[in-house]
Order: sequence, then structure tokens, then C-alpha cells
Amino acid sequence: MPSKTPSTADRMGLCLVISAPSGAGKSTLVSRLREEFADFAYSVSCTTRGPRVGEQDGVHYHFLTREEFLARREAGYFAEWAEVHGNLYGTPRGPVQTQLAQGRDVLFDIDVQGALQVKNVFPTGLFVFILPPSRAELERRLRGRGTDAADVIARRLENAVGEVRQARHFDYLIVNDDLDAAADELRAVYLAGRARSINRPGLLEGLLGQWGGE
Ligand code: ADP
Ligand code: 5GP
Repeated sequence: MPSKTPSTADRMGLCLVISAPSGAGKSTLVSRLREEFADFAYSVSCTTRGPRVGEQDGVHYHFLTREEFLARREAGYFAEWAEVHGNLYGTPRGPVQTQLAQGRDVLFDIDVQGALQVKNVFPTGLFVFILPPSRAELERRLRGRGTDAADVIARRLENAVGEVRQARHFDYLIVNDDLDAAADELRAVYLAGRARSINRPGLLEGLLGQWGGE
């Protein structure tokens, strides 16, 4: 049963930005979190990568041609964009701003370069990096997932070292060894972030108003 999150009326939406080397288990952890917190807004990215089996346009990604992507980029459509493993990815700016203004939390599943750009735009976001327990386990998961060709897997494994080097710029490091333990840590980070005073701008005034006075 999805947890009910408190009323958004006295809240400001927060950005939860999650990055990881491909295969570390980020999608698995993100989908668990979204199942639990159903009113999370999810930032649906644009990409020039082709859809994988089971991926739907507009749900997992907006799938664009390279020309379409570049035209949107030129028009300032993206809050951030990056080239990752040979494909272009970008976060549409408008939907994020709308959701945050409505007090909804927005989840970003984006690469390290994009996360660091988002940090410049939304510095009060929560920046989480998911680590694999080891290089060997990362390789095993990439192969075991069975979604990518051998050359794609080799490239992702090669790129992982540069991504892990950037992990120090994130606020939280979660090692995804035992899946349940990693999911617990991610939930804890999110819940603690929600309770920050910066995300509850109207709370104290509303409560103090019950005492009357100014
Ligand atoms: P990412 O989104 O980071 O590329 P996925 O969530 O697709 O990674 O996970 C890669 C593979 O590893 C999938 O087959 C997934 O089921 C598996 N996996 C994820 N987390 C764990 C874990 N803690 N232990 C073992 N396998 C895992
Ligand atoms: P995949 O092709 O496996 O879905 O994603 C590859 C990488 O691109 C992942 O690290 C994913 O988080 C990242 N990614 C997905 N969407 C975006 C985006 O909008 N911007 C950036 N910078 N990276 C993204």
C-alpha cells in the first residue's frame, strides 16, 4: 500500500536527485521508492536512445531523434542535459518548476554530469549516489540484466570509474549490496529531507496562528 505523504499545502517541493553508474540498481531502487510514495512527481527525461523492451514513450522517457533533441536544446527547453554512453539525455525544465511550485517532490534519475548541473539550479535538493558493492558485481548485474549488447556493457563498465570518482560531490552515498537495506537508506534520506525546515515554509506560522496574536 503506498504511504500517504502529508498535505502539500504548507510544503515546498524538494528535488531528490539520484545518480549511479549503469547497473548499480538505481532503476530498481527508484521504482521501489515510487511505489511507496505514489505522489512523487517523476521527471521524465528526453533521450536519443532507442526504447528498450517494455519502455513506453512519455512514461519512461520521451524518445526523440537527435535532430529533435538538438532543436529543443537550442530553444532552452532543458534544465540540464548531457551525453551519456553515446546518447543525449535531458530534463525538461517546465514540468519540474510546475511540480515544485505545487509543493510536489520531484525525483530525478539522471547521470552525474546532469546531477551536478541540477545542483547549480536547485542547490537545496537532496543528491544521492548509488554505489555497487564492487566492480565485479557491477559487471555481473549489467550482464544479468540482459538488456544491453556486449559492447554497450563494456562501455558502461568503462565509464563507471569516472562516475564513481564524481560521487564525492553528492550528499549521500548508498551502497546497493543488500537491496532491502539500500531501499531503507534511500527512504530514510528522503523522509529526513522532507522534514527539513527549509521545505516547510508555512508550517510554523500556521501552528502559531492557533495561539491567536500576530
Ligand atoms: P541501473 O538502473 O542502475 O542501471 P538496474 O536497477 O537496472 O540498474 O539493476 C541492474 C540489475 O541488477 C538488474 O537486473 C537488477 O534486478 C539487479 N539488481 C539491482 N539491485 C540489486 C541488488 N541489491 N542485488 C542484486 N541484484 C540487484
Ligand atoms: P539508461 O540509458 O540506462 O536509461 O540511462 C543511462 C544514464 O543516463 C543513466 O545514468 C541515467 O540516469 C541517465 N539519464 C537519464 N535521463 C537523464 C537526463 O535527463 N539527464 C541526464 N544528465 N542523464 C540522464
